Amino acid sequence: MAEQNQDPLREYRAKRDFARSPEPQGNGMRRGKKPVFVIQLHDAGTRHFDFRLEIDGVLKSWAVPKGPSTDPADSRLAVPTEDHPLDYADFEGVIPAGEYGGGTVLLWDAGTFRNLREQKQEPVDLPRSYAEGKIEVWLEGQRLRGGYALIRTEEGADGRWLLIKMKDDEADPARDPATEEDTSVRSGRTLAEIAAEEQEQA
Ligand code: MN
Repeated sequence: MAEQNQDPLREYRAKRDFARSPEPQGNGMRRGKKPVFVIQLHDAGTRHFDFRLEIDGVLKSWAVPKGPSTDPADSRLAVPTEDHPLDYADFEGVIPAGEYGGGTVLLWDAGTFRNLREQKQEPVDLPRSYAEGKIEVWLEGQRLRGGYALIRTEEGADGRWLLIKMKDDEADPARDPATEEDTSVRSGRTLAEIAAEEQEQA
């Protein structure tokens, strides 16, 4: 609850050594009118997906071990992590072993979104939705489209959330993109190809 007046990226920067990690330091500005989302496949100690939504000038972030589902009946655990800078939405590469989050990062999906949440026919803005632990957004990605809800199921800043496909025309229980799709939407590369190419450059 504290730290509201501090730099929102303080925790992000404190965890990283930018002399070693190629990750962005977070000096970028937002680029477009529509807020962005990004999903990164991250092969750290354990392979997981990182789901990030632009809210209040940062990327609010959750680690989603199994990745997003397109099946409304299949909710996925989402563990909140520190806010990331907006320019992290462009990051793909290798964080050196031994550094925080060491491992390969692949841009698994990216796009824009709009806020869906209303209460009594009035829009509920994203910062309030985040604080209340109830977010509803329409994603316009390359792999994911349609409504997704993020619902906090435990109180507290570290409380767990669930990522749930909402019921709409974009729902599709027959798809399983988190298992079936393993290339970058930006470069077409797999995790192994990104790791190999970055090693050649080093
Ligand atoms: Mn991660």
